[in-house]
Amino acid sequence: MSDTALHLHGIERHYNKGKPNEVAVLRGVNIEVKKGEVVALVAPSGAGKSTLLHIAGLLDTPDAGKVQIAGEDLTGRSDRARTNARRSQIGFVYQFHHLLPEFTAAENIILPQLASGISRKDAGARAVDLLGKVGVEHRAGHRPGELSGGEQQRVAFCRALANVPGLMLADEPTGNLDPATSDQVFEALIKLARETGLAALIATHNMDLAARMDRTVRLESGVLV
Ligand code: ADP
Ligand code: MG
Repeated sequence: MSDTALHLHGIERHYNKGKPNEVAVLRGVNIEVKKGEVVALVAPSGAGKSTLLHIAGLLDTPDAGKVQIAGEDLTGRSDRARTNARRSQIGFVYQFHHLLPEFTAAENIILPQLASGISRKDAGARAVDLLGKVGVEHRAGHRPGELSGGEQQRVAFCRALANVPGLMLADEPTGNLDPATSDQVFEALIKLARETGLAALIATHNMDLAARMDRTVRLESGVLV
């Protein structure tokens, strides 16, 4: 097996291609994230962080270049192959939690596992275990609306890891929180990544948070430097 969790080669992405308002957001992005490595993706707002993460997460398709997840090239593969890879290999976290409001914290982590064919009992045990790792096990039976912003985001991390992916992609996961909470939640994320041997690519414009990861890549004029 490959020891590379994510490999992007020559990724290009334009919006409004061929029109007067065409924007070339990504102009040949190359990056390799190894298993167990936590990498900060730093760039100002509008530079293309979300575009890059959506392509890496198989939620969007590049105009050129290659996306390899856990050694498998998913460029040009069927929707079904991409959906399977996304479900089993990738955990995605957004700036806003996107938890299902009518389900409890634990249920939000159980549901994606049931969709993957895990038994209710095993899925429940894993949900409790994950919530414990980020210190919110006492909130397992609460709905997202009853949780603080920091708790909601910690539950979202657990949901992203529900199906034991090798790669986590996080798009400004603490961007919506006050600085003190952001710090705690970020600490929980790093601890979770370390304990599970997860590879992670985490977009942020907070340099203090970036400094706590293994390395930083910067997106400038559509390429990583
Ligand atoms: P970031 O996440 O770093 O803030 P984005 O990836 O969201 O940046 O956006 C990069 C650039 O692409 C921005 O200039 C944005 O306006 C533009 N953009 C993003 N999505 C679209 C779209 N669907 N259509 C046209 N332009 C877009
Ligand atoms: Mg963004």
